[in-house]
Amino acid sequence: MQNYRNLGIKLTPQRIAILDYLKGNNNHPSAEEIFKHVSQNFSTMSFATVYNTLEALKKIGLISELTIDPSRKRYDYDTKPHHHLICSHCQKIVDVYSDYKLNVEEKYNREFEVLGNHIEFYGICKKCKETIN
Ligand SMILES: [Zn+2]
Ligand SMILES: [Zn+2]
Repeated sequence: MQNYRNLGIKLTPQRIAILDYLKGNNNHPSAEEIFKHVSQNFSTMSFATVYNTLEALKKIGLISELTIDPSRKRYDYDTKPHHHLICSHCQKIVDVYSDYKLNVEEKYNREFEVLGNHIEFYGICKKCKETIN
């Protein structure tokens, strides 16, 4: 297990379980999905605990939050800059690590220092395409 010490929050076994679930998962789960999984091992854990833990982990920069799924927040263990492919049908989210060298025109830079970017590609995943056709 990774060393989670010195993070500024106390990592209880429940919190570690949440982190470990996110770590072994690149499907950008929602709080509901994380709760469903983690509560199998921690039957007394409430949804609020899961949600609050996710918010705390986000605050210290250990995970990031995706707002690209309009129906619910999704969480990403990978906090390094990357883009996403989203299936409009099943809301599956896939990481895209291409470096697109995006720049805004000079006129925008005068008033605003750009620190990052994020591209959302929308489409239909292979599985959904097969079902639809
Ligand atoms: Zn799909
Ligand atoms: Zn991602």
